[in-house]
Amino acid sequence: MFCPKCGSILVNKKGKLVCSSCGESAKQGKIKESGKKTTKKSVAVMKEEPEVHPKTRAECSKCGNKEAFFWTVQTRSADEPPTRFYKCTKCGHIWREYS
Ligand SMILES: [Zn+2]
Ligand SMILES: [Zn+2]
Repeated sequence: MFCPKCGSILVNKKGKLVCSSCGESAKQGKIKESGKKTTKKSVAVMKEEPEVHPKTRAECSKCGNKEAFFWTVQTRSADEPPTRFYKCTKCGHIWREYS
């Protein structure tokens, strides 16, 4: 074993490898596995973007596509039912439907 700092030979002192030159001790026995699995942040940060709307089955009057994004918007007062908007996943056509 050699000193990681200065490269001198390490001597055994009380079961501990210590550098004979600079006193640097090799952390023997305390060497923790450096292979700590770094938490994959990319997975944890998968927040749903607000722009992404859920899809539903709805027929687009423009292109006939049967799938559309949808979201609801509370228009004007709370007394009125929210308006549901659809956006064709194919052509981007947007239409509304009163619930
Ligand atoms: Zn040393
Ligand atoms: Zn369409």
